[in-house]
This record gives sequence, structure tokens and C-alpha cells, in this order.
Amino acid sequence: MTDIAKSLEELCAERGMRMTEQRRTIAKIIQESEDHPDVEELHRRAVAVDPKISISTVYRTVKLFEDAGIIARHDFRDGRSRYETIPEEHHDHLINLKTGQVIEFRSPEIEALQERIAREHGFKLVDHRLELYGVPLKQDER
Ligand SMILES: [Zn+2]
Repeated sequence: MTDIAKSLEELCAERGMRMTEQRRTIAKIIQESEDHPDVEELHRRAVAVDPKISISTVYRTVKLFEDAGIIARHDFRDGRSRYETIPEEHHDHLINLKTGQVIEFRSPEIEALQERIAREHGFKLVDHRLELYGVPLKQDER
């Protein structure tokens, strides 16, 4: 999602990352993606802007951004790594196993419960990942 305060380019600059034109293009595409594209999809979008961008450049660049902690990688069990900017406000994901559609959600109850569980084990919660996998209910199951 694009709901972040700083652009990826600003975050890269803060980390003293050398920004080439191609890196800038890839950063902008990730930034503008409303979904959770994988490298192949990012490459498709990138070549529409700059046909000279190779898939290996996209691979290297997302790895660089991921290692720098400015984008998040997800594995939604379909064997592809998917990427998104790190959102201002944390969210979790619900994956439709029939279509691969990824739905973002946020549950204050789940957040509170996780913090409580961590605390009960003597921990302060600093991060978590939650993915729900489901198939759509049939009309008469709703
Ligand atoms: Zn997301």
C-alpha cells in the first residue's frame, strides 16, 4: 500500500544508498503498487517505464531494499516472494487460496491479544506476522 509518510527514494537517501535511475524507477513502482507484486510483476511494470531494466536488476534492487528494511517481503505460500512498502500502520493479510487475492486487514483485538501473549511469556512484542489462508464461503454458509 502507498500509505507511507516518506517515499522509498527518501528512505534510500537517508540510508546513504546510491540511487541509479533504474533503482529510482523500481522504487517508484513499488511505491505506487496497491497490491503485493512479485519480482516478475515488478519487472513487467518496470519495463513499461524503462525497457532496459532487466529482471536481475529488479531482483538485486528489491533485495537491496529489503535488506535495508525499507520494503517488506511476504511469502504467501505460492512459492513467490511478494513485496510492499512498509506501511505506516501495521496490517495483516488474508489470502484467498482460490484466487490468490490478498486482503489487508487490521484487528485491534488480535493486536492486543498478541501483546498479551508476549507479555505473559515475559516479552515486549516488537513485531509479528499473521497470515490467514481461506476459501470464500458459499452463499448458504454465510
Ligand atoms: Zn500488505
